[in-house]
Amino acid sequence: MKALQYRTIGQPPEVVEIETPEPGPGQVRLKVTAAGVCHSDSFIMSLPEEQYIYGLPLTLGHEGAGVVDKLGEGVEYLELGTSVAVYGPWGCGLCYECAQGRENYCVNAAKYGILPPGLGSPGAMAEYMIVNSPRHLVPLGDLDPVKNVSLTDAGLTPYHAIKGSLEKLHAGATAVVIGVGGLGHVAIQILRSMTSARVIALDVSEEKLTFATDVGAHQAFPSEPGAAVAVREATNGEGANVVFDFVANQATMDLGQAMMRAQGDQVLVGVGAGTLPVGLMAAPYETSIRSPYWGSRSELYEVLDLARGSGIDVHTEVFSLDNAPEAYEKLHNNQLLGRAVIVP
Ligand SMILES: [Zn+2]
Ligand SMILES: [Zn+2]
Repeated sequence: MKALQYRTIGQPPEVVEIETPEPGPGQVRLKVTAAGVCHSDSFIMSLPEEQYIYGLPLTLGHEGAGVVDKLGEGVEYLELGTSVAVYGPWGCGLCYECAQGRENYCVNAAKYGILPPGLGSPGAMAEYMIVNSPRHLVPLGDLDPVKNVSLTDAGLTPYHAIKGSLEKLHAGATAVVIGVGGLGHVAIQILRSMTSARVIALDVSEEKLTFATDVGAHQAFPSEPGAAVAVREATNGEGANVVFDFVANQATMDLGQAMMRAQGDQVLVGVGAGTLPVGLMAAPYETSIRSPYWGSRSELYEVLDLARGSGIDVHTEVFSLDNAPEAYEKLHNNQLLGRAVIVP
């Protein structure tokens, strides 16, 4: 079968021919219907050899959807041909966190070397993929896999981040979304459909500011040091109740901290590696800083239901598996609006 693999440190991913995998006991093989292109793929491919821990060759794709194609020994209750989305942050299924569906915070994953598809295990950018347990499949029903595959990360991650701050997003509150990319543009829509907060988007690209208001942001400002003043002016001097930072580099984290109001949440979702001062004098009183990672299994059901109620429309640009390297090039050059999706 054909697959998109990262094979050499520092080189772009390549389309290669590899053996079609067979599902082992307890596993499920999917015929892939769609796979999303994520910034974290670019991030891991930018790591120097000494920091790269995901194995080579690596079949990319941690946002996956497919139809159930073959069941491994012992797998029950799953029908061939069922259209499913793949829950990506695989855990052990046995610990306290996993028992609550929060496999993204599994306490045993590191110990047992359990790695998400596309981030250590073979991912969805191939004609077929192996899912390690039927537990990690969520039925898509009549949702279009191409349009919705990215909800497994670009929907689930902001959904989980927003849910953790819901009580601060009351009527009259202000949420700021920094970075209107794959996750940010979905975050704006989730905020609009789950809260009555005012949504302000920040981005460095003029095109993405227009995009932000197109998908539901009330206001959009250029992401620059002056943006903190702009947000305060737009909120009667009060500042943001919650800042969702989908970039989280030093510049955006400093910017976010400068626009917080007391008792606000600064939520760091992006994979940038900035740092923030904390303490009584460092930020407005009782500011909380959270750095959520991905989301829980039940939250994936919730996100898909939100999409079913047309609360979310992922803006997608479709590429074939052969053209997948081009999708990563466009992502790298900041030329994508919304999410690139690979259709094998
Ligand atoms: Zn991702
Ligand atoms: Zn676990």
